[in-house]
Amino acid sequence: MLGMVWILSLNTQAIGGAPERGKSFAHVAEASWGKGLSTLLRIVRMTLRHPWQVAITIVSTFIAATLQLFIPRLLGRAIDQAQGVMAAGAGTAAEHALWNTALTLLVVSILRGLFTMAQNYYGEAVGHQTGYELRLAFYEKIQRLSFSFHDRVHTGDLITLGLLDLDGVRMFFSTGILRVVLLGVLIGVGAYLLISTDLVLGLLSLSFVPFVAWRSSVTQLALRSTWLTLQQRLSVLSRVMDENLGGIRVVRAFAAQRHELEKFDRAKQDALDLATERVDIRVSNTSAMNFSFLAAMGLVLWFGGQKVIAGQISVGTLAQFLTFMTILQMPVRQLGLMVNSFARASTCGTRLFELLDAELDIQDAPDAKDLVITDGVLRFDNVGFRYAGAGRATLSGISFEARSGETIGIVGPPGSGKSTIAHLIPRFYDVTSGAITIDGQDISKVTLQSLRKAVGVVQQDAFLFTTSIENNIAYGNPWARETRIGQAAEYAQLHNYIIGLPAGYTTVVGERGASLSGGQRQRLTIARSLMLRPSVLVFDDSTAAIDAGTEQRIRAAMKRFARDRVTLIISHRLSSLMHADQILFVEGGRIVERGTHEELLALGGRYRALYDLQLRPEDDRPAAMGAA
Ligand code: ATP
Repeated sequence: MLGMVWILSLNTQAIGGAPERGKSFAHVAEASWGKGLSTLLRIVRMTLRHPWQVAITIVSTFIAATLQLFIPRLLGRAIDQAQGVMAAGAGTAAEHALWNTALTLLVVSILRGLFTMAQNYYGEAVGHQTGYELRLAFYEKIQRLSFSFHDRVHTGDLITLGLLDLDGVRMFFSTGILRVVLLGVLIGVGAYLLISTDLVLGLLSLSFVPFVAWRSSVTQLALRSTWLTLQQRLSVLSRVMDENLGGIRVVRAFAAQRHELEKFDRAKQDALDLATERVDIRVSNTSAMNFSFLAAMGLVLWFGGQKVIAGQISVGTLAQFLTFMTILQMPVRQLGLMVNSFARASTCGTRLFELLDAELDIQDAPDAKDLVITDGVLRFDNVGFRYAGAGRATLSGISFEARSGETIGIVGPPGSGKSTIAHLIPRFYDVTSGAITIDGQDISKVTLQSLRKAVGVVQQDAFLFTTSIENNIAYGNPWARETRIGQAAEYAQLHNYIIGLPAGYTTVVGERGASLSGGQRQRLTIARSLMLRPSVLVFDDSTAAIDAGTEQRIRAAMKRFARDRVTLIISHRLSSLMHADQILFVEGGRIVERGTHEELLALGGRYRALYDLQLRPEDDRPAAMGAA
């Protein structure tokens, strides 16, 4: 047991809290063996949620292994009886005895097969049920973890965690726990039977066990450590491939295929070197194990043969020793796999459980109530915000109020904090200071579900799912009637385009909406947000790919829709927001100018300068502007 604990301590790595941005889970610090052990106990507890299946599996394994031990004995006896038949002739009592032994051997083999089948069936069932429960818990947790968590952790690492690590935990019961039972019975009881039959031959038969068990464990651990490195290299390879595929248009546009191929080749070579190293480890150790087994067999044949010649044991007894060695060979070699299974389960389990136990930074307060919309007033009260790990505040002293039916425009240079303001309203992030209220209710004190139903954000990045246009629009409200979907598409100026398509609303949009233009994608995401009929509707630079004429028509169509809700428009294009009731000019995370379009023009500040740059006819601009 101590050896196992030592092995676990070598192999256990933990998430170690939230990893730094860009760092994978596999890079984080090693955890203590105590942690590895408690992880294994937790997996065992999870497995015991299916007590009947676990009991059937363990009992079946025990019986199958015990029955297997009868086989060498029966074979040995059959050989001795066959010799008797040869001496006494057919039809004698010796022949009857041989038939009885053969029949017993058949029954034992069939029973062993049946119990092995039960062991495999229920063992796999327990593993799959545990895997299913873990997968659900993992997926559910991923849905609830905050944006700051997703900012820090690479998507590829989460996928690895949900596939490979989860598999390591899932398979622990069949490849770890059951092997302990199997090997315990085979080696323990088998060794007793052999030694009690003939001490010297018994010890010789078992002489290969310590060496093979040791080599097999060392090999598997060496393979495991190279496997972890290989995983990291393969994950680099898949990241390179993922980026290449995601940015295929950029790659082609910049004729960078050669550079990309070289990048891929480097990553591939690293993975290949390690794969070759793994083959070397496996081949050299397999040869050493084969040699030790054959040497032990040679010794048993030599000493056993002499005993047979001396008449001390029968040929059948010698055959019994040799058969037992052959039976024992495979499980002993698999001892390494068992050790590996313990190590893998503790490593993978520690990582997985750290994620499952991770505290949710954004969740419902204990006494959270549903948001109740009355007048629909959105208020920012001296709001400050800083991203986790960022050196300085992204937003400071943001205050404004918007009443139902009002439109607020937010404009400012890139990186000034406009999108961050939008992300605070549905609590994608929590404010660092100050408060945001809707109808006087602090958004941090209402349920997330009710808040996110009341706030619709049309994101900068027009992400679409690989499904029909209809399903994409109805994403937030899958039971919506077709008329409502059509109306949302009409508001977004997309209806006429959709009905012109051969499959209309059932047209599948391709991966991430690849079959649509940028503007169509944006309009589709607008329609999707309108379906929620939110009390606060935020357009986060979501009309940048839409031409000014279409945008104007969307605004006109939505006039009635916008009457009983707050609309926030974030845009670089002044024509998108100059009609707003109040315009906020944000710079360096602060509101530096505010007012209506006319008031801001009259102020002659930054907004005015932007207006002159974007909208004022060139020959109407002041000379200074032209000079600048
Ligand atoms: P743009 O007009 O280019 O969209 P923006 O005004 O909307 O910019 P934000 O996206 O709000 O600006 O970003 C404000 C600042 O916060 C930037 O300096 C940006 O680098 C930083 N920032 C944005 N998102 C994150 C994040 N997830 N983690 C850390 N810093 C971030």
